[in-house]
Amino acid sequence: MIIAIDGPAAAGKGTLARRLADHFSLALLDTGLLYRATGLKVLNSGGDPADVSAAAAAARALDPEDLKNPELRADGAANAASKVAVIPEVRAALLEFQRDFAKNPPNGAKGAVIDGRDIGTVVCPGADVKLFITASAEVRAERRLKELQERGLEAIYARVLQDMKERDARDSGRDVAPLKPAEDAFFLDTSGLDAEAVFATALDHILKQNSFG
Ligand code: C5P
Repeated sequence: MIIAIDGPAAAGKGTLARRLADHFSLALLDTGLLYRATGLKVLNSGGDPADVSAAAAAARALDPEDLKNPELRADGAANAASKVAVIPEVRAALLEFQRDFAKNPPNGAKGAVIDGRDIGTVVCPGADVKLFITASAEVRAERRLKELQERGLEAIYARVLQDMKERDARDSGRDVAPLKPAEDAFFLDTSGLDAEAVFATALDHILKQNSFG
């Protein structure tokens, strides 16, 4: 059983993915981490994330240890991620790992929940369930601001909103695997919903669409 979850930053994908993985006892893969780790690897070696050969080499050299770096959660890593993510060689290098995870989920799990931007369209076009989770840029910026403040980081709403819009534009406007709902995705706008309501709506859809228990 593969559940593909796509959508823009801070729409609620990560929380929903975790809850669905727990509910159905599935493995969980946050593919944003792969792009963040690639971007951070380039930044930390003094390179430019937009440099095709540096970014492609970083993606090919990615190690599971790189996915544990606490710096991955920072906005610097997110912005670097969306720059390396436009590079076809980077996407090709990361595709195999993601497909392999879907095919052979770790720890004997009977499937996986995979979240990102192109899971339902490119990585797992045959997924059993495809969810597209979104919310207005303003709501997403508020959520991100709150998250940053809770982590004790200083942040300004206008700046967070601007970064969010720039990242959205890069993710939706790129030529390779742009952020867009798969034709058969269930579209869920979480602007007015809390995490509990998002989970309940998604679960209801999954149970109606499939016979999973
Ligand atoms: O989901 P997260 O915010 O961690 O993703 C960081 C960036 O990685 C995204 O803005 C996007 O550019 C890129 N990404 C992608 N395809 C994915 C997952 C993430 O292009 N499947």
